[in-house]
Amino acid sequence: MAEEKSFKYVIVGGGVAAGYAAREFSKQGLKPGELAIISREQVPPYERPALSKGYINLENKATLPGFYVCAGSGGEKQFPQWYKENGIELILDTEIVKADLAAKTLVSGTGQVFKYQTLLAATGSSVTRLSDFGVQGADAKNIFYLRELDDADELVTAMDVKKNGKAVVVGGGYIGLELSSALKVNNLEVTMVYPEPWCMPRLFTAGIASFYEGYYANKGINIVKGTVAAGFSTNSNGEVAEVKLKDGRTLKADIVIVGVGARPIISLFKGQVEEEKGGLKTDAFFKTSVPDVYAIGDIATFPMKLYNEMRRVEHVDHARKSAEQAVKVTKR
Ligand SMILES: Cc1cc2nc3c(=O)[nH]c(=O)nc-3n(C[C@H](O)[C@H](O)[C@H](O)COP(=O)(O)OP(=O)(O)OC[C@H]3O[C@@H](n4cnc5c(N)ncnc54)[C@H](O)[C@@H]3O)c2cc1C
Repeated sequence: MAEEKSFKYVIVGGGVAAGYAAREFSKQGLKPGELAIISREQVPPYERPALSKGYINLENKATLPGFYVCAGSGGEKQFPQWYKENGIELILDTEIVKADLAAKTLVSGTGQVFKYQTLLAATGSSVTRLSDFGVQGADAKNIFYLRELDDADELVTAMDVKKNGKAVVVGGGYIGLELSSALKVNNLEVTMVYPEPWCMPRLFTAGIASFYEGYYANKGINIVKGTVAAGFSTNSNGEVAEVKLKDGRTLKADIVIVGVGARPIISLFKGQVEEEKGGLKTDAFFKTSVPDVYAIGDIATFPMKLYNEMRRVEHVDHARKSAEQAVKVTKR
């Protein structure tokens, strides 16, 4: 049986919130071996927004370690060495599959057991997949989603293989807009498809959206509104060849990128922590309903003063600041 490891503080998840929490822990004072970060990713915490920006610009690619946290806020880049020097154990490529909050124990996919005194849950979000809605053919090759570095690597490879090909982007949110622009810059022929009357409908007014849609159209991006991808057909290699739209039209595609939203990853904590609005409910200090368990970043539903209501926020700045706030409280 794998050896059991014990830490004063454990952060489960190794994304933006985890990286900024680590920096705050080190600022507040940390003894070697007190803190561990457990992440299923193979690389230290990085600035996730770079994945839909510099990382997929093939001409002028941003690469790691260029966007390790805390580069995005003008801070020092935290190389693996930084974690070592600060006495922080970075446990990568390790997925936690079970959390027993009453016993203060986490178990990894390979059966390794981790004990903690204080837990910071920072598991972020996972993308919503078209197969979740039973869209026919949604498992075809060359249909991509973007959340983690591995997803971005697969997309970059496909963009290179399908150079000058046709790309269909499903979704008119910021991921759809950013990826459409990146694909166009990389010389693919791009069509965006979304059901709403304009892009970024939750944030943009019709007027603002019309400016962006005009700008995109001028760059040669084709926009199809008011319908959704209802199915995909494939070629003999099992690669996507066509997107079938609900309104009966079809679009040829060598690559499809789907950006239709994300959901907080809270399954580990189900039934153990109070939830609200799809996330783990916290107070203003990011404390959950379970003593010594904090939730930070995308998964936290916290009291937001500005709107005087409980909100969950999927923004990088919130991930950074909620992490810092929670760490300050744990160190009090
Ligand atoms: C492509 C892309 C572009 C974005 N661009 C912007 C932007 O321009 N501006 C903006 O404000 N926001 C942007 N965001 C959103 C922003 O990146 C997130 O809000 C932020 O990363 C949330 O931080 P987090 O630490 O909560 O989650 P994440 O950064 O997603 O980190 C979660 C980590 O937990 C790990 N994990 C999950 N479950 C487990 C488990 N069971 N065991 C171990 N590890 C686990 C994941 O692998 C991941 O490493 C973007 C997001 C994406 C995907």
